[in-house]
Amino acid sequence: MGRSVAALGVVALVVAACAQAPAAGSGITVVATTTIIADLAKQVGGPDANVESLAPAGAAVEDYQPAPEDAKKVASAKVILINGLALDRWSEKLRKNAAPDAKVVILSDDLPRLGIGESDDEDINKNGNPHYWFDVKYAKTYVERIRDALIAVDPAHADGYTSRAMAYLAMLDDLDREIRVQVQQIPQERRKLVTSHDAFPYFAKAYGFKIVGFAEPEGGKEPSAGELAKLVDKVKAERVPAIFSEAQVSPNVAQALAKDAGVKTVVTDLVTDSLGDPPADSYLGLMRTDVKKIVDALK
Ligand SMILES: [Zn+2]
Repeated sequence: MGRSVAALGVVALVVAACAQAPAAGSGITVVATTTIIADLAKQVGGPDANVESLAPAGAAVEDYQPAPEDAKKVASAKVILINGLALDRWSEKLRKNAAPDAKVVILSDDLPRLGIGESDDEDINKNGNPHYWFDVKYAKTYVERIRDALIAVDPAHADGYTSRAMAYLAMLDDLDREIRVQVQQIPQERRKLVTSHDAFPYFAKAYGFKIVGFAEPEGGKEPSAGELAKLVDKVKAERVPAIFSEAQVSPNVAQALAKDAGVKTVVTDLVTDSLGDPPADSYLGLMRTDVKKIVDALK
């Protein structure tokens, strides 16, 4: 009798402890530099992780200026997910706030690098292009690295991380197959991309496109008259069917370029480095949205 009363007391204590934990406070704290990486982490983390992004949805990530509260977010994180290379260099100075036992993962480490010696962006030219997630194969690598990091800091929930990652990786395989089927609608000679910035080399390599140029060869800056004239010549010579501009930049340059080069189709809202409005508010949705816009404009 006394024994079961004591046992009941333990149960009551556990129930009380659980009731006290706020719903949002359960799970380990994970901070990602971008909303795209945060989405991948949420898919793997499920209810076992609280995931936050530093750069907000819709941000031009390369130009993001960390806010004072970002240092606090980093300090409270058990896992810190960084893309690496020219995308989120601003996270380097935030990393000194990381707890000594926090796990910092640079998701692009050791992946094959494109862009070295061939981009107008000096950082990309020297270190490689950071936009790996546009090849679904590398998004899968990110997911595997996120899964391994979560398991390392929270082994008690390893089964959940493993099974959610497995289910999501299967969805990424479906996405990759779907993109390859969609792209078949575009005749080979029309698979050409002109975008705002150098975000698509991994996409182009994986899915068979040629990159012709960028409206903003230096991220965030309008091109000079000379740069624009050179791009107009390239667009004409390559018979580029459409000009793409990205959601986070003004479409003015793309429109001027299209007008000067005689290109009729301008798409002004490709979503690139951050999640956007629905249906581009998840990685899967972003990829499907962009691929549909690209296919519809070029086919
Ligand atoms: Zn970018």
